[in-house]
Amino acid sequence: MVRAENVHKSFGAAHILKGIDLEVAPREVCCLIGPSGSGKSTFLRCINHLEQINAGRLWVDGDLVGYRQRGDRLHELRDREVAAKRRDIGMVFQRFNLFPHMTAIENVMEGPVQVKREAKAAARERAAALLERVGLADKAGSYPSQLSGGQQQRVAIARALAMEPKLMLFDEPTSALDPELVGDVLDVMRGLAEDGMTMIVVTHEMGFAREVGDSLVFMDDGVVVESGHPRQVLGDPQHERTRTFLSKVL
Ligand code: ATP
Ligand code: MG
Repeated sequence: MVRAENVHKSFGAAHILKGIDLEVAPREVCCLIGPSGSGKSTFLRCINHLEQINAGRLWVDGDLVGYRQRGDRLHELRDREVAAKRRDIGMVFQRFNLFPHMTAIENVMEGPVQVKREAKAAARERAAALLERVGLADKAGSYPSQLSGGQQQRVAIARALAMEPKLMLFDEPTSALDPELVGDVLDVMRGLAEDGMTMIVVTHEMGFAREVGDSLVFMDDGVVVESGHPRQVLGDPQHERTRTFLSKVL
């Protein structure tokens, strides 16, 4: 579903991604860990067309990200083509960025109605089902300010799912939450994984990585240092850098 080959990204003179190689199969849950500043968010943003890579190749669902291939020549995608590709990728950030002036159900309906031109009644019905799936059937009419952080984050997940993405990217979805609210969000993510959603999850929740992850990738300083089955990486890390990082977070 996702393949990165020698992906490089710089911001001005700052070389941030220094040759990322990674493969995520359909239905796989890939957990991404690493120190602050190692490039995890930047990498997710590249997958989601929010940043353009400087070198290497990146594919999502068989399509080259950012380019169209004609013979052996590459052409940059137009904004409209990029927007179309981004619809297939759901992203949930650390900070729940719901529209504050819309209720939970209106937030979930917004993409399908505005972007996919779905009929309002049908979109509302699907949105209600999605809110039920994330355990918030009774909060459909609530505004974000009336919801806890964990509830807002679950609405954000429902909103991403409403676009029927092929791939879900999570960037530390629980790290801004009070500890007692983390479990509900992780439970929703676990359910998604069980339903076969392909997911890349940047997280510090090692329990989640161990129980739900199919793979665990440790990034440091813009490269993948080590990857493998979560039990293997967590139980028997092969690199000193991995051991040092894990000793701080476990
Ligand atoms: P954290 O765990 O703190 O979220 P991260 O692994 O997600 O860290 P990134 O957010 O990807 O790290 O940032 C990697 C580096 O890239 C940082 O040094 C950051 O300052 C830099 N960076 C990210 N975005 C930009 C940008 N738009 N312009 C300049 N520098 C950037
Ligand atoms: Mg980050």
